Amino acid sequence: MHKQTIKQLMQGLRDKSFSSTELTQHYLNRINSLDSEINSFITITDELALKQAATADVLLAGDTKLHDLCGIPMAHKDIFCTEGVRSSCGSKMLDNFIAPYNATIIENFNAAGSIMLGKTNMDEFAMGSSNETSFYGAVKNPWDLTRVPGGSSGGSAACVAALFAPAATGSDTGGSIRQPAALCGLTGLKPTYGAVSRFGMIAFASSLDQAGPLAKTAEDAAILMNTLAGFDAKDSTSMPRDKEDYTAKLNDKLDGIKIGLPKEFFSDDLDPEVATLVNNAIKELEKAGATFKEVSLPNSEYSVPAYYVVAPAEASTNLSRFDGVRYGYRCDKPVDLMDMYCRTRGEGFGDEVKRRILIGTYALSAGFYDAYYNQAQKIRRLIKNDFAAAFNDVDLILSPTSPSAAFKLGEKTNDPVQMYLEDIYTIAVNLAGLPAISVPCGLKNNLPVGLQLIGNAFDDARVLNVAHQFQQLTDWHTLCAPFAKKG
Ligand code: GLN
Repeated sequence: MHKQTIKQLMQGLRDKSFSSTELTQHYLNRINSLDSEINSFITITDELALKQAATADVLLAGDTKLHDLCGIPMAHKDIFCTEGVRSSCGSKMLDNFIAPYNATIIENFNAAGSIMLGKTNMDEFAMGSSNETSFYGAVKNPWDLTRVPGGSSGGSAACVAALFAPAATGSDTGGSIRQPAALCGLTGLKPTYGAVSRFGMIAFASSLDQAGPLAKTAEDAAILMNTLAGFDAKDSTSMPRDKEDYTAKLNDKLDGIKIGLPKEFFSDDLDPEVATLVNNAIKELEKAGATFKEVSLPNSEYSVPAYYVVAPAEASTNLSRFDGVRYGYRCDKPVDLMDMYCRTRGEGFGDEVKRRILIGTYALSAGFYDAYYNQAQKIRRLIKNDFAAAFNDVDLILSPTSPSAAFKLGEKTNDPVQMYLEDIYTIAVNLAGLPAISVPCGLKNNLPVGLQLIGNAFDDARVLNVAHQFQQLTDWHTLCAPFAKKG
């Protein structure tokens, strides 16, 4: 059962090949017996999952019109508030935090009758590219247990690659859905900014954060988007637009579609093996009728530096709420208010989070605001303009997702800049608010490599369409991590 896609599981539930309770129990057994080796879950919600499954089974037995995800188990990144369940965001600061309400996307999944298996491990407050900054320890990549799964949605990616769940939610501020998807051989979509509600998603950098699916196929990602996306009055940056069916265009043919190749992303710096795999993917898409042309994103070299001003600036503001007063961790026996603030934050946050708070506070300080924050915002506009110019010529943009395949645990932990460069191909997309997907396009030394497809704003369905068509032509997405064969 655990090898099936959501699409196949939907059919199995409707054919009564298995019940949701059986399916849920099956996944819980796998998680409880095998996750000690991967560490992809922070919290496993056995009891809640079986209760939800029993409810779904009643619906599945009736002849009511069923939601696609009725009875389908999933895992959710621990960045989403889940009522009555610990929502830690990978931090000691929120280790004791039981959310009093659900994030909108969790409400959506509950209303659909989907089952929550548990909350997945992640880099602390979603800051990282390797899942090594988590208070709950590093996550192992099911393709090679000595390597990272990527981050920050590393637990979500690893749990799907280990076949502990058919899909999981993630969040992407600079690449945190796409890069772990690439490193774990999955399909991961970062939707257009404003398409998915951020209400109840613990904020890192609010103008960049966007929730999305990690799944086995683009088709499953599209099915999940139908539940994830939609206007939410509780999120002031949610886009008021009609509900969209993200599966509607999946089968559109690619004849006549124009795809741009940004010359800056195909420079000599690109790893030659990654380049070969991406070029093979281009040939497959050409056979399906797509045409390719070079485009330029001249300001892309400034995207990582601009991001590392804008994101820490927003983070330093967002994380000021963790002061030991309202919720979360409070230091032991503070002598006065200042001692409580200082020790609570000193003891509750990890090193990477502190580094970002310091950078962000500095960039926003009166004397440096113009030199750093304002400058970074101007670069952000130029990057957005670059994409707009490219989309005058092409329908989509194609690039690698990540500079290489999964790296060794510990390899980059002492070199933050090397870690930041993991997102060199993904970060500009967040700065411009665009949708982008990563799909598996081959193996390098038996480790998955990802291909990125970037769309114009609110062209998520087209991005999913091209990804799905690519998956009709190739079988990279069907390859299984060696660890997943266990159990
Ligand atoms: N790796 C990037 C960072 O550490 C992106 C993280 C993310 O997308 N949440 O900021």
